[in-house]
Amino acid sequence: LVTRMAGFGETVFAEMTRLADETGAINLGQGFPDTDGPRSLLEGAARRIAGGVNQYPPGSGRIELRTAVAEDRRTRYGLDHDPETEVYVTVGATAGIAASVLALVEPGDEVVLFEPMYDSYSGAVALAQGVRRPVTLRPSADGAGTRFAFDPDELRAAVTPRTRMIIVNSPHNPTGTVFTAAEMGLIAELCRDNDIVALTDEVYEHLTYDGVAHLPLASFPGMAERTLSVSSAGKTFSVTGWKVGWVTGPAPLVRAVRTVNQFLTYSANGALQLAVADALRDEAEWVRAQRDALQGKRDRLAAGLAAAGFGVEPAQGSYFLMADIRPLGFADGVETARSLPRLAGVAAVPAQVFYADQEKGRHLVRFAFCKKDGVLDEAAARLRAFG
Ligand code: PMP
Ligand code: GLN
Repeated sequence: LVTRMAGFGETVFAEMTRLADETGAINLGQGFPDTDGPRSLLEGAARRIAGGVNQYPPGSGRIELRTAVAEDRRTRYGLDHDPETEVYVTVGATAGIAASVLALVEPGDEVVLFEPMYDSYSGAVALAQGVRRPVTLRPSADGAGTRFAFDPDELRAAVTPRTRMIIVNSPHNPTGTVFTAAEMGLIAELCRDNDIVALTDEVYEHLTYDGVAHLPLASFPGMAERTLSVSSAGKTFSVTGWKVGWVTGPAPLVRAVRTVNQFLTYSANGALQLAVADALRDEAEWVRAQRDALQGKRDRLAAGLAAAGFGVEPAQGSYFLMADIRPLGFADGVETARSLPRLAGVAAVPAQVFYADQEKGRHLVRFAFCKKDGVLDEAAARLRAFG
């Protein structure tokens, strides 16, 4: 019926979570933690709700949160945003991404993105009737170690006179790649030279491991004035169900996002915004400890998957590991992911769904490691018994 969305069904995350629930499998599919965020955050929200913060907040978001986001980005990245005009609060990063694409991409405009890619980019580009131009990340060895990376010439070739936007997700879901200064530098150069707007998805900005730093594209020369940066509280504070996100960027671009978003959601939950504002100021230590814990979980699950016979690709960030199923004698990730919950008692996500050309991801499945150590150990034991 909605012809521009032809080809889109239920998202794979919903499908795999349902399958995990139906079969009682350990859910390493959809990326959500199985522990709560900081106490002060949870109590801060409860206190606000009990205290009467229950009506519409301003459409652009509570000024407390917009100010906290601006301060946070100044402190950590040296970026300056006017909280009044250059920070905008959305219902999770998802709404920020969709509103940004709808605001800036006209039918027929091309959008460069890196595949495998998070599913909501394709949905948003389709809603805007834009055209995807995927650039493939492949496992490759370079100075930064073995990681999924792009070929600079392929990126250059993807840019055409019709290119309106490039979507950059680092730390990257599903590969865990954190783009290097050289990679970000090339992206910035292409944006400047071709008058392209960048949309960055930085929801895993705090979750980088082994001392690797997240580099915001907006901090590269000439990029602050042409970049919309999206992030959210979900991953930073382990509250993925709260759906409090934000978009930062130059006032004219943020205004365009607001123009669209006021008709999508108008505003986001006000009590939660106030709690997140406090946490951005007060819970940096919790966030660091969480990152360190996740680094250990990544290693724990990587070892478990390797022991079960998967080929495991390294990840520098995010919640996820990509695993090659071929050493186990499987060929198709969708079939494997659909059968694993029943056969092994573990759910994962097939990587195909992250690719425009699904063949490229056929041999990969994605596992989430944002779970309790005991859960990861049990999943590893089940996979080992199965493999
Ligand atoms: N971008 C990426 C890369 C994600 O993995 C996710 C899922 N958490 C989102 C955006 C959506 O974030 P939110 O839940 O804040 O909408
Ligand atoms: N970001 C989550 C993931 O990649 C999924 C969120 C969702 O279900 N939309 O697993």
